[in-house]
Amino acid sequence: MSTKQFASHADTEEKKVSFDRLSDHAYAYTAEGDPNSGVVIGDDAVMVIDTQATPVMAQDVIRRIREVTDKPIRYVTLSHYHAVRVLGASGYRPEHIIASRDTYDLIVERGQQDMQSEIERFPRLFRAVESVPGLTWPTIRFEKRMTLMLGKLQVEIMQLGRGHTKGDTVVWLPEEKILFSGDLVEFDATPYTGDAYLTDWPATLDAIAALQPSKLVPGRGASLQTPAEVKAGLEGTRAFVTAMFESVKRGAAAGLDLKSVYRETYATLKPQFGHWVIFDHCLPFDVTRAYDEATQYKDPRIWTAQRDKDMWLALEG
Ligand SMILES: [Zn+2]
Repeated sequence: MSTKQFASHADTEEKKVSFDRLSDHAYAYTAEGDPNSGVVIGDDAVMVIDTQATPVMAQDVIRRIREVTDKPIRYVTLSHYHAVRVLGASGYRPEHIIASRDTYDLIVERGQQDMQSEIERFPRLFRAVESVPGLTWPTIRFEKRMTLMLGKLQVEIMQLGRGHTKGDTVVWLPEEKILFSGDLVEFDATPYTGDAYLTDWPATLDAIAALQPSKLVPGRGASLQTPAEVKAGLEGTRAFVTAMFESVKRGAAAGLDLKSVYRETYATLKPQFGHWVIFDHCLPFDVTRAYDEATQYKDPRIWTAQRDKDMWLALEG
């Protein structure tokens, strides 16, 4: 096996941004598989869901919002704690930053290590990293569910179950049946499962499907604008998560070590999923967490910049 560059260090090409109108109240900021942001425009205020990685990068989201509304951006909602989605929050100068209690707990427990780890994994995705003032701290924490009225527009902010992380939060516009899923759902992009609860993830996808979204903004990849596209996004994510975890469980049950399980799982998944963005980046982290969950670690272990590199050397070196 030839040595691959660490994480996303070989990824240097800028992506093209799309800002899609989903309804009078909902827009999707997507970039060919880079982390997405969602925008909800209420009667009196705007909410941004996931911020981009730095305050400087947030300015491009703001610029596009200003092309469609001059209402104030009062709320930022975090779909989960990952640095690449939350560290741009200060760029919006929001009155409130909303997160689940579980996401808040993860920021307290491992936010600092995650920030260091992610900045080193994704050099291109942290443009102007020096503009990050530090960790992003929620000002509103909710348990399981909260309803926000933006004037007459009802916005449901919900934890439907664990999957990508234990704090996963979706934003739902019930009147328009539009869902912002965060990294619980990806489209033509590889799910990152390094901090996941793989046993629980399929049931959480069931809970999303039960809402019958007509449109869905995934964590990465194009916005899904019809029920058929939503179904494809949910099924693709489920297929990857299930096939990856099954392969790892099989290997672990046979007593294989992590490196052997990684090689087998990589070969099993490559034909079906190898063309999805960040496949080579994600697989080592994904299989490591899956092996942990299949053996002795109920909860994801904290990734540090050093643990990242040790793991990469062990599996790809
Ligand atoms: Zn994430």
